[in-house]
Amino acid sequence: MDLDVRNITKTYGPVTALNDLSLTIPAGSLTCFLGPSGCGKTTLLRVIAGLETADSGHIMLGSEDLSDTPPSERNFGVVFQSYSLFPNLTAIRNVQYGLECRGWSRARRRERAREMLDLVHLGDQADKLPEQMSGGQQQRIAIARALAPEPSLLLLDEPLSALDAKVRAGLRGEIRNIQQQFGITTVMVTHDQNEALEMADQIVVLRDGEIEQVGTARDLYAHPKTQFVADFIGAINLLPVSATPDGGARYGEATLSLTGALDGATTLGLRPEAITLGGSGEPGENALTCTVAGTRFMGNLQHVDLRPDCAPGQSLTVEMNGLVQAPGAGEKIVARFPSRALQVLR
Ligand code: ADP
Ligand code: MG
Repeated sequence: MDLDVRNITKTYGPVTALNDLSLTIPAGSLTCFLGPSGCGKTTLLRVIAGLETADSGHIMLGSEDLSDTPPSERNFGVVFQSYSLFPNLTAIRNVQYGLECRGWSRARRRERAREMLDLVHLGDQADKLPEQMSGGQQQRIAIARALAPEPSLLLLDEPLSALDAKVRAGLRGEIRNIQQQFGITTVMVTHDQNEALEMADQIVVLRDGEIEQVGTARDLYAHPKTQFVADFIGAINLLPVSATPDGGARYGEATLSLTGALDGATTLGLRPEAITLGGSGEPGENALTCTVAGTRFMGNLQHVDLRPDCAPGQSLTVEMNGLVQAPGAGEKIVARFPSRALQVLR
């Protein structure tokens, strides 16, 4: 069943953590809440879990209003950033814990806990205490514990951010596999754009307690609506522009052709990998003569910084394959990009 967040407002004294926020989380999807620290991600997750009471608004699961249902009766699985395992219980007892409260028989509890430990590949660690396991293992136990009671929704608050990069990358895939295998509706909070891009069916970008944009990873990357989203997800060149009478965009001395209308916007976004250097180009493409300022080599990729001759004081970054020869500093070169690569940003 879809989860509907309807007009949720939550304040803490003078701070509005969530401002009349509405959102649908489709059944079976993995939805990421993405945004900078303090934008309201955790508050929204806690309101959904019932751990925090909203000032106004409703949390609906299908047609059922859960707003007044206590957290223990929502049957949602929750995993937090820091491993919240019981330190004095073994891995398997941790996983069984929630089942005891829900009245599962001893035999079923053991069987289910074994199943969940195998699911997270820790079947052989059943009798270890949390302190005898690595951070990644503890977090997998926490996930097994959250899934054991067959929750209708899985809520994860930055579950990977305390782990080192390699473990984090592995667990991303593992969480996604489990989520798809069970088809369990999942909400994951993260401030890491790469995590959201790689894992999510739907990304909700939050800013100051409000939704900035919702969409698939590809949507948000290719068609960011605002400067905030464009800048938060991936790298982008921001071009200050003004409208020309014939519907183009003036960028310094040059006129750029767009596919859409500026409609009062004064900034265009242009992804570094949408620009090509040199060559003869195609008709209708924008072409700007630039001076190369320098190159930053990063192995698989390299970023070439350009100063467009038409717009003194401005710069454009171009992303190139790391294996090709980059132009040298001081060289004159033509930067080309199709009109559809220019995103109109609010
Ligand atoms: P995020 O998880 O995106 O970093 P939070 O949801 O934790 O953001 O916080 C959103 C805003 O609400 C912040 O301004 C934060 O300081 C405030 N806030 C969160 N929890 C509390 C609380 N228990 N008391 C007072 N202010 C809070
Ligand atoms: Mg948080």
